[in-house]
Amino acid sequence: MLIIGNGRLVTRDAGQPFFENGAVAIDGTTIKKVGTLEEIKKEFPEAEFVDAKGGVIMPAFINTHEHIYSAMARGLSIKGYDPHGFLDILDGLWWTIDRHLTNEQTRQSARVTFIDSIKNGVTTVFDHHASFGQIKDSLFAIEDAAKEFGVRACLCYEVSDRDGMDKSREAVLENARWIKHALADDTDMFAGMMGMHAQFTISDETMELAAANKPDEVGYHIHVAEGIEDLHDCLHKYGKRIVDRLYDCNILGSKTLLGHCIYVNPHEMELIKATDTMVVHNPESNMGNACGCPPTMEIVHRGILTGLGTDGYTQDVLESYKVANVLHKHHLCDANAAWGEVPQMLFEGNAKIANRYFKKQLGVLKEGAAADVIVTDYVPRTPMDASNINSHILFGMTGRSVVTTVCNGKVLMKDRELIGIDEEKVLYEVREEAKKLERSING
Ligand SMILES: [Zn+2]
Repeated sequence: MLIIGNGRLVTRDAGQPFFENGAVAIDGTTIKKVGTLEEIKKEFPEAEFVDAKGGVIMPAFINTHEHIYSAMARGLSIKGYDPHGFLDILDGLWWTIDRHLTNEQTRQSARVTFIDSIKNGVTTVFDHHASFGQIKDSLFAIEDAAKEFGVRACLCYEVSDRDGMDKSREAVLENARWIKHALADDTDMFAGMMGMHAQFTISDETMELAAANKPDEVGYHIHVAEGIEDLHDCLHKYGKRIVDRLYDCNILGSKTLLGHCIYVNPHEMELIKATDTMVVHNPESNMGNACGCPPTMEIVHRGILTGLGTDGYTQDVLESYKVANVLHKHHLCDANAAWGEVPQMLFEGNAKIANRYFKKQLGVLKEGAAADVIVTDYVPRTPMDASNINSHILFGMTGRSVVTTVCNGKVLMKDRELIGIDEEKVLYEVREEAKKLERSING
């Protein structure tokens, strides 16, 4: 038994959302009870105690769109790279990196991504992977890193014809092997999806191959209308809009996650809603790639299940919260926009999306839920209660406010010290592989 207590407790459970001085009792991999520190300590006197030291205890964060393969892009210089649009960014930077990635570089990218996730309080990651340099076993290399550090992961390989049909076939088969492996895993720590890059790099033939190799229990994870070029391609080649093509290819459904959805119209939103398909918004990435602002507020208002991701930009989901908050206010010229929608995406949407793949309840602290808990060192300067939690988080915390991270009942970081992880050694090994990657890219 483990108790995390002596702090303000935010449960995300509507029945009892906030305790001024609360505690969480953990039994194995699940939460046994939440309550006041006094009652929890009295009921479980023998339990090991993790002191929150007056900080805030919350459910661990979930990131519903991430790219581990981008980890080694930081500081990377690519000869001749001079992008003049979104397609140049894709081909000149991201596809250039993934064309050179070996499985060892994928594994090291995953290690450093997961360490950063733990430090930012993220214990569940939905990754969208590409490594056309070495496709086979790449998802299993990511699994190795997730197991090494104890985080929860839903993985997929982004199928694409961009490097030829042999490679897209290999990518479909990598997804199929991983999905089979994840479905057989009984730890509730791994899941799989059929990853697709974006419709503009996927032929009907490859769509059919993916469908033939996808078990019914899982859906697709695909970028949708991230750039206007994707929409133009679809109209030009198929005479229809992107979501219509995905609908016709039987891609939509309650297990399918659409990234971005910037250039979607009301009719497409209706299709997404009618098929109970999920959407993930990545505000910082959309701004950084100069792709445009998606109609995310309308998507949320229509009742579409929407989450918040980082798209490889950062592992700090609170950074995404801050950026989304100002992006939609700015874009809509509406100072009232996004106050409720963005925390709903981060705290409710991401949890609901995760629970379409993981059995134990995530994103909430209550009896029977997964023991994924964080502590931040935030001490409020103004009164904090159930009515203003999100305002305190938005304006008072960043990912680095997290001091303690627990995943599946295991303490991964305590008082900012990673448990059982030699961070300096990992970073050295990652830098060595990053050097090799840079050499292989630049010749
Ligand atoms: Zn992405």
